[in-house]
Amino acid sequence: MRGMTDPTPVPAALTPEQAAIATDAAAARPLLALVPIPDRQSYSSLATYADCPYRYALRYLLKIPGPSVVAAFSFGTAAHAAFERFTRMRRKRRAEGGTPPTRQELGRWFGEAWKTVEFPDEDSRAAYWLRAGPLLDAFWAIEEEGTAEVVGEERWFRLALAPAGAPPFTIGGAIDRIDRLPSGAVEVIDYKTGRPESQAPLEENLQLTIYALACRDGLGLGRPERLTLWFAESGERRSTARTDAQLDAARDEIAERVARMRTGELRATPSASACRWCDYRDLCPVRAPEPAGA
Ligand code: SF4
Repeated sequence: MRGMTDPTPVPAALTPEQAAIATDAAAARPLLALVPIPDRQSYSSLATYADCPYRYALRYLLKIPGPSVVAAFSFGTAAHAAFERFTRMRRKRRAEGGTPPTRQELGRWFGEAWKTVEFPDEDSRAAYWLRAGPLLDAFWAIEEEGTAEVVGEERWFRLALAPAGAPPFTIGGAIDRIDRLPSGAVEVIDYKTGRPESQAPLEENLQLTIYALACRDGLGLGRPERLTLWFAESGERRSTARTDAQLDAARDEIAERVARMRTGELRATPSASACRWCDYRDLCPVRAPEPAGA
């Protein structure tokens, strides 16, 4: 369950061999001989590599855990679980000729999910609990009418890529929600509990691009008509789309990214924006300094 504490302890310091990988491509070879680049990638692993290859190595190859439970992540996990259960139950009851779930049931399902996630401290738990009611009200305000035809919740996929001249690999993940639109095409929805302005531009959003590829090339649902971030607390939705040509180009770009990993290109790419919130900044030998006034 996302948000639970990782039992693996965070090391006090990296070994000299681990630290050397940050600046020396050759230093990665012994590591890759022991821990090859996985044949299964995810949106998170690909995005981590794009942010900083050394961060990818620390997390996915050396498997050094992040130092803390992130409160926002736990809150989002509980919200996702409640939304998923709501639409799943509504679909089931409709099929059985029953009545749809109520606002009270939505709240109860959120409460049950809430008990399964951890927070770093009681203050953050209490602060996030105050946001739960408005969050559920905003979701309910949109879903009360219940006109959307949801065809999948937490839909798992495994997308196979077989670049010419290179070993195949897969990208695995789960799509929060897939709706059928009146046109017959689908809309991919990713729930967000953060502020809308914190999101990368939709046109460059790798997560949505991978979900579109998964629908088209993995799940047999065709190219989505809409790719939507649903900011659950404000009820705001932001949508975009991808053309087939854009999806084909994205496949090539992802394959190139994995090819670079496989060559052992794991050197750090420090930057103020990447390092500031990096889980490993206290361990990292080449972290960028904190921006002035931070
Ligand atoms: S602190 Fe910066 S350079 Fe070091 S791993 Fe994190 S993002 Fe990369």
